[in-house]
Order: sequence, then structure tokens, then C-alpha cells
Amino acid sequence: MRIRGNLIIISGPSGSGKGTVCKAMFDSMTDLHLSLSATTRQQRVGEQDGVDYYFLSRPEFEKMIAEDQLLEWANVYGQYYGTPMEPVLNAVNQGKDVILEIDVQGAFLVRKKFPTCVLIFLIPPSRLALEKRLKNRATDSEKEIEQRLKWAESEIQQVAYYDYLIINDEVEKAAYKVVNIINAERCRPALLDIESLMNKYRV
Ligand code: 5GP
Repeated sequence: MRIRGNLIIISGPSGSGKGTVCKAMFDSMTDLHLSLSATTRQQRVGEQDGVDYYFLSRPEFEKMIAEDQLLEWANVYGQYYGTPMEPVLNAVNQGKDVILEIDVQGAFLVRKKFPTCVLIFLIPPSRLALEKRLKNRATDSEKEIEQRLKWAESEIQQVAYYDYLIINDEVEKAAYKVVNIINAERCRPALLDIESLMNKYRV
């Protein structure tokens, strides 16, 4: 019934729990494709190349930009982050919805190219909760945490331009809301094959 899949963008400050919520969501929705981003930021302990990100050097990333291989890219905290285009296009052409965990700059760029995409913003219940999560994660220095909290403030100001806002006070509840949003968006006629549906009603 679908002409193609849709793009579901999940943004939110670093430490808002996007990754954890997405994991919980994938447990109940198996027919989704998770886009794997490329970045020039340093690999953290426990992260794997090709699993968490494609970790690239600056020249490698700039080559991808020059060759127009990215659906979008942005400079976040002084590092490049971007979405490789081909896997996303392949998945949507196969009718799969694609989840992109990207920042607000990237989200608005994708919306220009894919106006049907859905923008979901995920935030922790308070600045204190965000600070605690960043500190508990123990992956960033004090300076980086301070930078991420500042960035969070400016990102949250963009929430009015998003389609949905979810406050992540409990992972399961937040994941349930994302699943509901995706299911509701799948009922929008814009991406459905109305012509074949109408054929079934013709006498
Ligand atoms: P982190 O370094 O904590 O993994 O991610 C930092 C920020 O970069 C997060 O806000 C995350 O959403 C964003 N990000 C991750 N991948 C991409 C991407 O492909 N494009 C853009 N524009 N932002 C991304």
C-alpha cells in the first residue's frame, strides 16, 4: 500500500537518551531502518566503527561532502556529522521507514529535501537531569559537558519547529510514544498508493 517509506528524525540534546529510546523502540518495531551517521569526532571507549558511527578523518568526510554522498551534514561541537545518502534512499525505496538521530540543523536540511519527513524532539525532564545523564555517562570531559549543556539550550529553542515533542522521563514510555507517532504517520495518505486502493473500489 505504500509508495515509499518515510524519514523519521529524532533530535535532542546529547544525553537526552535518543539512543536508548531508539533501542527500546526497535524491540517493538522490527520493520525500521536505522541510519548510521558518519562523524569526525573521536571514537569513545566502547564505541565501534560501523556500528555506532562511521568514524572518519576530516579529509575523508570532506570528500563525501564534495562527492555529494551525504543527505545532510552539520558541524556539531566543532566536529562534522552527516547522514550517508545511499542507504537511506535504498531503504525508503523498499518501503521502509528510516530513523535518523540527527541534530536540529540536519533535521531542517532533511525537511527541505523530504517535506513528508517527521521531526520528533526528545528532551530530558530538566537541565539538571540532562547534566546528571552526561556526567553518569562519563564519556565527556567537564569542558565538553559544559559545551553540550550550552548547545542543548540553543537546540531546545528550535523545538517549536518540530512536529512532536517527547519528554523522556521514562525510556519505555518515550519509546511507546515514538512507536505511536510512527504508526499514525503511516496512515497519512501522502505516502500511500491511493490509486491501487481506488482500483479495489471500482466496479
Ligand atoms: P554524539 O557525539 O553525542 O554522538 O552526538 C552529538 C550530536 O550530533 C547529537 O545531537 C546527534 O543527534 C548529532 N548527530 C549525530 N549524527 C548526526 C548526523 O548524521 N547529522 C547531524 N546533523 N547530526 C548528527
